[in-house]
Amino acid sequence: MINGSTRVYGIIGDPVAHSLSPLMQNRAFGDCGLNCCYVPFQVDTAGLPAAIAAVRALGLGGVNVTIPHKERVMEHLDEIDRSATLIGAVNTIVNRDGRLIGYNTDGAGFLASLHDGGFDLGGKRVVLLGAGGAARAVSFVMAQSGISSLTVFDVIGSKAEKLAADLAPVAGCLIAAGELASDTLPVALAEADLLVNASPVGMFPNHEARPPVDPQQLTGGTLVYDLVYNPLRTKLISEAEARGCRVLSGAGMLVYQGALAFELWTGRRAPVGTMRQALEEAVQR
Ligand code: NAP
Repeated sequence: MINGSTRVYGIIGDPVAHSLSPLMQNRAFGDCGLNCCYVPFQVDTAGLPAAIAAVRALGLGGVNVTIPHKERVMEHLDEIDRSATLIGAVNTIVNRDGRLIGYNTDGAGFLASLHDGGFDLGGKRVVLLGAGGAARAVSFVMAQSGISSLTVFDVIGSKAEKLAADLAPVAGCLIAAGELASDTLPVALAEADLLVNASPVGMFPNHEARPPVDPQQLTGGTLVYDLVYNPLRTKLISEAEARGCRVLSGAGMLVYQGALAFELWTGRRAPVGTMRQALEEAVQR
């Protein structure tokens, strides 16, 4: 029940109506018996400064930030966590007594979901598809988690090369980049312990599109992690499974990035199972 002391959280983005975060976070608040609520705020680019001023003026507990504001919002905050600075994007803002602090829980959420899936990154060879926002978040955390190599492929090789150049100074592993159409992709796939799809290929409503790589080039020893979460079973996931690969869907990262935001805001352990259930109920299988 909303009353005079309800703490308000939310998500700012454009579009935002599709977001599953209100479902996950409200279920989590209810599960923990917290007098909090979480609402979607449709904010366009011109409205971003006023929206952040409103977080302060209205005393919101915090907000998630989604496309297209994850980078531009940084200039409006009082402090930015180191990991968000490295990634170059903020997806969670915490309001600490009027000071707005920016975090990025996408990368840590990805790591937590891999851990949950029983996968140890130590010494692993990783192939990453895509060089956009999600790719940046997962690549920075993986490059500092003991992997032996990370090869980034994108439609336009220059974008992958830019990400590789940004990663190189902080990475503890070999970093390489290439074009999806290049001859190096099949070789990298054949040797990969982990393949991460951080491109939108396979996402609803284009879920019938061909997978971003030819699944015939995968060996059974590769874990295939598709960051797409709608549908949960993408074509890449189904075809990789048919090749004998272990698979993970993007639901895990989505749940854990939300769980980590919940913990930053409330200081309480997030009810991960409840949040996952809310997400799975909402997404087509
Ligand atoms: P983005 O910033 O637009 O980046 C997408 C990347 O994929 C770009 O590098 C893009 O290259 C590349 N790409 C586009 N079409 C491609 C194709 N046909 N084949 C291969 N690569 C292609 O998007 P994003 O925010 O990173 O999101 C990417 C995906 O991750 C989306 O499906 C999103 O839903 C998912 N995601 C999941 C989570 C989660 O929690 N599970 C979190 C964030 C994102 P160009 O720029 O050259 O087109």
